[in-house]
Amino acid sequence: MLTHLECTRCGERYPPNRPQSVCQKDGGVLYARYDLATIKRNFSSARLALRAPTMWRYDAILPAADPVTLGEGFTPMLASREYPNVYIKDEGLNPTGSFKARGLAAAVTMARHFGLKKLAIPSAGNAAGALAAYAAAAGLEAHIFMPRDVPMANRIECDYYGAHVTLVDGLISDCARKVADMKKESFWDKDGWFDVSTTKEPYRVEGKKTMGYEVAEQLGWRMPQGIIYPTGGGVGLLGMWKAFEEMEALGWIGSERPKMISVQSAGCAPVVKAWEEGKSSAEMWNNAETLASGLRVPKPYGDYLILDILKKSLGVALSATDEEIVDATRHWAKFEGIFAAPEGAACLVAYRKLRDNGFFRPEDVVVLFNTGSGLKYLDVLDANVARPHPERELQGPSVGKPALAAKPAARHIGGIIGPY
Ligand SMILES: [Zn+2]
Repeated sequence: MLTHLECTRCGERYPPNRPQSVCQKDGGVLYARYDLATIKRNFSSARLALRAPTMWRYDAILPAADPVTLGEGFTPMLASREYPNVYIKDEGLNPTGSFKARGLAAAVTMARHFGLKKLAIPSAGNAAGALAAYAAAAGLEAHIFMPRDVPMANRIECDYYGAHVTLVDGLISDCARKVADMKKESFWDKDGWFDVSTTKEPYRVEGKKTMGYEVAEQLGWRMPQGIIYPTGGGVGLLGMWKAFEEMEALGWIGSERPKMISVQSAGCAPVVKAWEEGKSSAEMWNNAETLASGLRVPKPYGDYLILDILKKSLGVALSATDEEIVDATRHWAKFEGIFAAPEGAACLVAYRKLRDNGFFRPEDVVVLFNTGSGLKYLDVLDANVARPHPERELQGPSVGKPALAAKPAARHIGGIIGPY
């Protein structure tokens, strides 16, 4: 049972029976807290075997509300064909083709529960598609602010889901400013508007935490030695860590924890920079540019929580270049049969680096999160992969590694924002 919301900075408590944003005192992220002792007495992990294979199988540790669901969660944990102790958690099989389905299913469930009518979101792309879908399923309005150069799939899906879309010349941080400006205007609350920005409402983390429950359940209630997670806003990382703490309190796992690894794009790596400098919060990353659109988050709102988790778990933050990411996307497709989102493929780049430098040993069980389907990035991948010449193609497949093509100038917006 959900008992209260708690500020992750100052510990201030807020009632969970009405919409809440961030802490009114210090802007800290609010976490949902449960009466875990009672849940422990009334529910055991053994009972999960009988539940439906969606994230709502964990509803004992989710807010009690009628779910808005499209069948999200309980995605496959695939054993890597290349590395014996590596698993790929394939979030591309979620509704709307990305892990964003989990957080938005939970957030829209609670929004409908509270009688909110209009939901606003700044998004790097996939969260927009997910909000649009769940808002449609709930009969609510979705107001979406995303960069003009998001992958085509994100624009088209939002349009078809009937969302109100504003394309912004800029990045997610510029979109967030637009939403914040609207919030200042008086009509915001009066008209039942609500901002479902990453970590600026408490329930997206609750949806994302189910990834942590699934990792444990799918590995037979054993913790892996590492989890590699592409980190934009970082909600999944926060959610999984929260899930581990809850599961320990429930007696489902012990005190062991995986090393949590954040991978970012070299073109937008605020968490990596802060980590390397030993700082407890990130600075705004200027001129963010990467084809992994989900990683174009110049300053995650929950940065202090992400960095704290990396530290507590003895993890690390590292980056991958766009060229490494595209190469890894192709490698996973060809060797694993998984057509991953570029953000997900960045995990493979990170894993290789962490094996090379001895951070992970071959026997360590490591879970790599493919956060979405490559099918949502067709235009991005098509524009970025040089094809072999036809005559060379006839000579067989050994034409060398595909190189990144020159970036199409048409995708530069106003000369300020890099396209990828
Ligand atoms: Zn606070």
